[in-house]
Amino acid sequence: MPFTALGLHPSIIQALSDQGYKQPYPIQSEVIPAILDKKDVLGIAQTGSGKTVGFVLPILMNLQRSSPTKSRHINVLVLVPTRELAVQVNEVFQVFGQVLPNRVKTMAVYGGASINPQMMGLHGVNILVATPGRLLELVESNAVHLSEIQTLVLDEADKMLNMGFTDEMNRIFELLPKKRQNLLFSATLSLEVDIVNRVLLRDPLIIKIEPENDNIDLISQLAYFVTDERKGPLLRYLIKHNNLQQVLVFTSSVYSADNVTDKLRKNGIDAMAIHSKKSQGARMDALGRFKFGELRVLVATDLISRGIDIKFLPYVINYELPRSPKEFIHRIGRTGRAESPGEAISFIAPADEHHFKVIQKKMGKWVTMIDSAGMDLKGY
Ligand code: AMP
Repeated sequence: MPFTALGLHPSIIQALSDQGYKQPYPIQSEVIPAILDKKDVLGIAQTGSGKTVGFVLPILMNLQRSSPTKSRHINVLVLVPTRELAVQVNEVFQVFGQVLPNRVKTMAVYGGASINPQMMGLHGVNILVATPGRLLELVESNAVHLSEIQTLVLDEADKMLNMGFTDEMNRIFELLPKKRQNLLFSATLSLEVDIVNRVLLRDPLIIKIEPENDNIDLISQLAYFVTDERKGPLLRYLIKHNNLQQVLVFTSSVYSADNVTDKLRKNGIDAMAIHSKKSQGARMDALGRFKFGELRVLVATDLISRGIDIKFLPYVINYELPRSPKEFIHRIGRTGRAESPGEAISFIAPADEHHFKVIQKKMGKWVTMIDSAGMDLKGY
């Protein structure tokens, strides 16, 4: 089904073509007509499925027909777990919103940035993309009102619950009008999301997209047995010896991310860390530089990595394994886009061997293992 069959405005069709989107992704073909029809949607889908465009376009279309609301009474609220995702989703609203005849004002608000400019900017906003905590602060200071919301979007709902936003979300739900459209997107349908689902959705369109497991076959994977002390030298050896560019390295803690980054830099490899202890500015800067190919290595923790879409990522290195097999698949799934197959490398310390077996079993794929003991890492 082409984009033209989905009921979108001609200038949006043109903008899609300008962006290089030829065909709707499966999730888009299903959710766009449903959202235009004011139905509730439950989408089990992750980053990479195309869910963002799937909800952004019909929301913009529906707003074209609705009458203006009072000042500081927004029409659409999109709740997201992280600042990075807020910025990213808002950008998509802006790209497509600017081509429509009726002006739509969109804005992203999130914690870790000063609240005053956000308070002032909220005047006349139709679509607000927000992290839960900051949204409540803005509501409490009367900078924004939620009583006239027509559409609520929960993006990466499972992540929001995992990050402990349950109380904030419940407080926000209390402030919303009973009659509204609800769109809930989540990578998994965990028990908790199931509860949210029952609270929120009436006879929704349910759609499940599982792209990442399908991508696994596109990714070439390798694992190295390596002792903890030799992980750093092995990482630097692989990057330098193979002249790897645009490498995303995952660590399991903030401390380790900083440590790995410092050592890379001391060894002349351009690297930056991105994690929850970094300021908003530093995070956006590192991510921006990495996305544009100006930064060779980005070292990240899982918390930050979720929801960030980086196109054409050739290398992912698991310096430390994640706790869950799902997270492992999510991490390496970033390299397995059809148009740019990539390589995932995992470091397996003696204590990780059993856990890595579990991961491979869940993934349904056995990874070639190389013992690094005999490799000469001197000088790295
Ligand atoms: P998302 O799952 O929303 O984070 O989107 C994943 C990526 O797919 C983004 O980089 C989008 O720009 C891209 N994308 C979304 N829809 C399409 C489409 N129909 N054709 C090509 N690329 C798309």
